[in-house]
Amino acid sequence: MRRPDSLNPLFAAITTLPGVGPKMERLYARLLGREAPRVLDLVFHLPTGFIDRRARPKLAEVKPGSVATVCVKVERHRPPPPGRSRAPHLVFASDATGDLVITYFRARPEHLQKLFPVGEERWVSGTTALYDGMLQMVHPDRVMTEAELEKLAPIEPVYPLTEGLSAYAVRRAVEAALSPLPSLPEWQDAAFLAAEKFPSFAEALRTVHRPGEPEDVSAEKSPAWRRLAFDELLAGQLALAMVRARVKKAAGRATVGDGRLREKLAAALPWSLTPSQDKAVADIVADLEKPERMLRLVQGDVGSGKTVVALFACATAVEAGSQAALMAPTEILARQHLKTIAPLANAAGLRIAILTGRERGRERTATLAALEAGEIDLLVGTHAIFQDDVVFHDLALAVIDEQHRFGVHQRYALAKKGHAVDLLVMTATPIPRTLVLTYFGDMDVSELREKPAGRKPIDTRTVALDRLDDVVAAVGRALHEGRRVYWVCPLVEESETSDLAAAQDRFGDLEKIFGATVGLVHGKMRGSEKDAAMAAFAAGETTLLVATTVIEVGVDVPEASVMVIEHAERFGLAQLHQLRGRIGRGEAASTCLLLYKTPVGETAKARLATMRDTEDGFRIAEEDLRLRGEGDVLGTRQSGMPGFRVARIESHAELLEAARDDARLILARDPELKSERGEALRTLLYLFERDEAVRLLRAG
Ligand code: ADP
Ligand code: MG
Repeated sequence: MRRPDSLNPLFAAITTLPGVGPKMERLYARLLGREAPRVLDLVFHLPTGFIDRRARPKLAEVKPGSVATVCVKVERHRPPPPGRSRAPHLVFASDATGDLVITYFRARPEHLQKLFPVGEERWVSGTTALYDGMLQMVHPDRVMTEAELEKLAPIEPVYPLTEGLSAYAVRRAVEAALSPLPSLPEWQDAAFLAAEKFPSFAEALRTVHRPGEPEDVSAEKSPAWRRLAFDELLAGQLALAMVRARVKKAAGRATVGDGRLREKLAAALPWSLTPSQDKAVADIVADLEKPERMLRLVQGDVGSGKTVVALFACATAVEAGSQAALMAPTEILARQHLKTIAPLANAAGLRIAILTGRERGRERTATLAALEAGEIDLLVGTHAIFQDDVVFHDLALAVIDEQHRFGVHQRYALAKKGHAVDLLVMTATPIPRTLVLTYFGDMDVSELREKPAGRKPIDTRTVALDRLDDVVAAVGRALHEGRRVYWVCPLVEESETSDLAAAQDRFGDLEKIFGATVGLVHGKMRGSEKDAAMAAFAAGETTLLVATTVIEVGVDVPEASVMVIEHAERFGLAQLHQLRGRIGRGEAASTCLLLYKTPVGETAKARLATMRDTEDGFRIAEEDLRLRGEGDVLGTRQSGMPGFRVARIESHAELLEAARDDARLILARDPELKSERGEALRTLLYLFERDEAVRLLRAG
């Protein structure tokens, strides 16, 4: 089945909308976060606020500072005096109760004379202010005749914007996208809609974009918004349930290891497993032994020791005579896993190899041949493992690290590389309980609760950026004591190039002071350069590593015990936590300095305080959820996971539960989605781009 034709207008390029040409397309790409945005992306770009233009006071009643829509008679103009073009052009106006000065800077006088003909009445709408004792309106948002007033939206939606795109342009494009909306079959249960007072999908979209009441733009209160959120959540839960049903249905196989490799591994480890690592391994071994498919998530805060759990899992599969794959989201991580695992694997007699985008030519061919012949037990790699020509002799277990960076279909693609492949996914992102459900559906979960013994708490301090000299001096002392230091450079908004420039500048500054012991690593480096920089730092050849957030995920250099994060106020909580997790991994007591630039906003201040006060990933995640108000806790925008556009977890958590129950019920009754409602639900899956699940139906 392919996408229903009824959805075509929504999936058309955004350039099919009047007024959106190639130049605008680029701006919308930035705004909407995808390369070639479609009408759909704009339609789901929901307002984050509104301007209330309902107030129609007399001038005497206007509260300065408020947005008002007033009817005034134009008295006279006062253009800027000749030669002083910077002075404003004033339009004096009044009603029966008072006076209003309408002010324009750098406007063409002829244009204003036409807009405000002396002696006539005009409606103006905008923010008022008191200036020199006079009521003023600077650059009204709207100037209208009586007839035009009718078209004024009483509640005007406010959209997130990007530089170069005006609010007007976005509103106009959204309007164009809404008219007309295609008529789609109703996929929700009629009784449920009635009980919740939910409008139809099209009606709901119109209400949120053309609000009649302030509540209409409230994610929490608006039935229209809630309906859209429920649609999205249901699509997500349905897709997860379908994937799961299919994975479970495909007969699993019992993978029973005899423990010999695990014993050797344990003997080779310099420490013993923590109780939760032990428990996680036991859970996994039990899952593998069952004749069903395993779908398990190992959730553990940064530094809780997930890699060795993965290794024990893989060893079990190899004991049973099969192969295992361990996949990481980045090349740095894959190589690091290899480095960690290699000595242990050697001690246990486990044959390992790596496959990333960088292995090419003869080396790659040799690896692929050995893999297919069953001469490699464990393949460590990146997305490169998905490639078609990667063929396993007998893949029994796939482990996916930092799982939220991969989509559902990627998980599935890896599972297809073998027969009845068991899946183990791991995440360091501390996810609040409500969210586990959203992202992982009904997976079994193992938690690594405690950190390995001997970890010391990290001393985290916040320092104003204007004390940079002190910080540099402190770093100098730490280096002198033989400590290893990360220096994380700020995120610069929306621009990787300036990110890079900032890191390079800082690198230059610090190199001048500390010389050749300073290293640099950033995302724009070639893979081999990155490795070299990381390896030099791990080996202690460089002792101060200037980095962008490329080190955010999983990098493990236990000797590093100091981290400086520049412009910490620009980072999200989850990201700060991930970054800080790079230190505090070894014997030494660690210090984290969060440098912030004053003045700091309230939310940023609260974030920094949270970081200073706790290292508990779960507490940080909860706090993150609370502080964000909206947006995605997992940082899907950076990671490219298909996230949520409409649903706001903090407003719609209870809808999520309902969506899960509904999805189960639907599939129990109509597993192939063949009924009339089932057909409509397929449209829903396509609409929210969960159609990979629909393809599973076909394949199954
Ligand atoms: P993460 O869960 O963040 O992926 P890692 O697997 O990278 O954590 O482990 C973090 C560090 O802790 C590594 O240096 C690892 O060798 C070490 N480690 C893991 N388990 C233990 C343990 N039981 N005792 C001591 N150190 C451990
Ligand atoms: Mg890890």
